[in-house]
Amino acid sequence: MGRRSSWTGTSCPIARGADVLGEPWTLVILRDAHLGTTRFDDFRSHLGIADNVLASRLARMVETGLMTRVPYRDGGRTREEYRLTQAGADTLPVIHALGAWGDTYTNSPTPSDPLRLVHTPCGEPTRPGEKCDHCGATLTRAELHRLEHGTDDEVPLAEPVA
Ligand SMILES: [Zn+2]
Repeated sequence: MGRRSSWTGTSCPIARGADVLGEPWTLVILRDAHLGTTRFDDFRSHLGIADNVLASRLARMVETGLMTRVPYRDGGRTREEYRLTQAGADTLPVIHALGAWGDTYTNSPTPSDPLRLVHTPCGEPTRPGEKCDHCGATLTRAELHRLEHGTDDEVPLAEPVA
């Protein structure tokens, strides 16, 4: 009974995960973060999101531990960029699975762009997870590259900060 009780109402792990991840802007910000976007202005221009909405989403993502603020020099000024934490990086299978589901079961007026990943040592496509779908080797994030849309260029994923 003890274990069953954690699967009631909103206390189960799925509900707790959805509470942190389940907002549409949060999911697309995470997608862009995996692909290497770090700066406020770049998120804004990629996403076409209002400043105040983006600021509040990013603040919540820092608060919930998905992202962390990291200072960088911009000319003479110090500014902050947003980088994935390990918890943020570990959303990759969720983001990938959501994209694969969306590609299969929803319609788009424009050509669809699922997140395509390749295991670089064997050079074959795989889903993110414990093992490569093709060769069965244990996957590391550094060996998992994405295929650039419209090309087959292999691009590393953003690495989380410690
Ligand atoms: Zn492989």
